[in-house]
Amino acid sequence: MALIVQKYGGTSVGNIERIKSVAQRVARFKAQGHQIVVVVSAMSGETDRLIHLAKQIQAHPDPREFDVMVSTGEQVSIALLSMALIDLGLKARSYTGAQVRILTDNAHNKARILNIDETNMRNDLQAGYVVVVAGFQGVDEKGNITTLGRGGSDTTGVALAAALNADECQIYTDVDGVYTTDPRIVPEARRLKTITFEEMLEMASLGSKVLQIRSVGFAGKYKVKLRVLSSFEEAGEGTLITFEEDEKMEQAIISGIAFNRDEAKITILDVPDRPGIAYQILGPIAEANIDVDMIVQNVGHDGMTDFSFTVHRSDFAKAMGILKKQVAPHIGAREVTGDDKITKVSAVGVGMRSHAGIASKMFRTLAEEGINIQMISTSEIKISVVIDEKYMELAVRVLHKAFELDHQV
Ligand code: ASP
Ligand code: MG
Repeated sequence: MALIVQKYGGTSVGNIERIKSVAQRVARFKAQGHQIVVVVSAMSGETDRLIHLAKQIQAHPDPREFDVMVSTGEQVSIALLSMALIDLGLKARSYTGAQVRILTDNAHNKARILNIDETNMRNDLQAGYVVVVAGFQGVDEKGNITTLGRGGSDTTGVALAAALNADECQIYTDVDGVYTTDPRIVPEARRLKTITFEEMLEMASLGSKVLQIRSVGFAGKYKVKLRVLSSFEEAGEGTLITFEEDEKMEQAIISGIAFNRDEAKITILDVPDRPGIAYQILGPIAEANIDVDMIVQNVGHDGMTDFSFTVHRSDFAKAMGILKKQVAPHIGAREVTGDDKITKVSAVGVGMRSHAGIASKMFRTLAEEGINIQMISTSEIKISVVIDEKYMELAVRVLHKAFELDHQV
């Protein structure tokens, strides 16, 4: 008997038929004698619908009220799924995040989980219930409803698995695993049987959209056994996320080509080249809760330098505003320019640690297609480039081919 946390995403509970089919899958696991905690997202499209409603009243909705509203999508799903389970003759009980008491900080719209009270869940599991928990939400110390950011139900699933010390956390979605790249762009893309946590972190943060990045970090930290599978298939082993040190097999050099369309680049021209300048530029950006990704500072010339960095496209206008109004006049920079038509493309693989020449192969492949590289960043297991968004699909296709990702077994 195992304790399994299963998380079902929006498309997996997208309509009544799908909810019934999820209930049947849960019932099959229950019949095998397992204890099951189910985490569900809102029905597909529902969160977007709610956000659209809010924006018709306030262009930038009040963060607290926004959370009160968008958290309702998941509340509908947990009740419907519990009814479907009860209808199959199972014992089931639903909980909102606040009812479990998933305690978070008070950063509305992107709150972090601080603590999970397991008491209710443990008691219910002992008594033979399937526990159904609303993803994406929690409650702060003062009782305010909070949400964890788009895709946050993955994080709820992993966090519950960690708190309950579950044997496995299964993330059911509309794809049957993690692929070498997006099959909509490269039809030859293959499902990976395993991928390491480190690679998955890079793939997720680079926009591979299979799992919310924070959930992968969480799983790595608490050693949660994580598997991504399709809820549209009867059987299938999906992709298991492993730890590199457990990996006995020969590693592929590159595991995948990831990309992120929603990037924007900001450059501050002619900044005085002196200590503290990076802090003066990026401090106010961090204070505004804007995540910065790639950062490049040029070699100084005549006491001046240029400074560029990338942000998520949705933060672009806000970041430009801060730099133009608060930062540039203050530090005496000449100009702030921006480009929100860029994308980041990356080659990811732990095998890179032991192989030279990956970067030059990547740059040569892009050069042969006439694709200009605007920024480069590297880590031990990835190489990322920023390019014009109009070349993104081409870049992904040629890199996937160059690294022979369609060939491996
Ligand atoms: N319903 C939320 C969203 O669409 C959370 C989730 O699905 O994970 O972002
Ligand atoms: Mg999702």
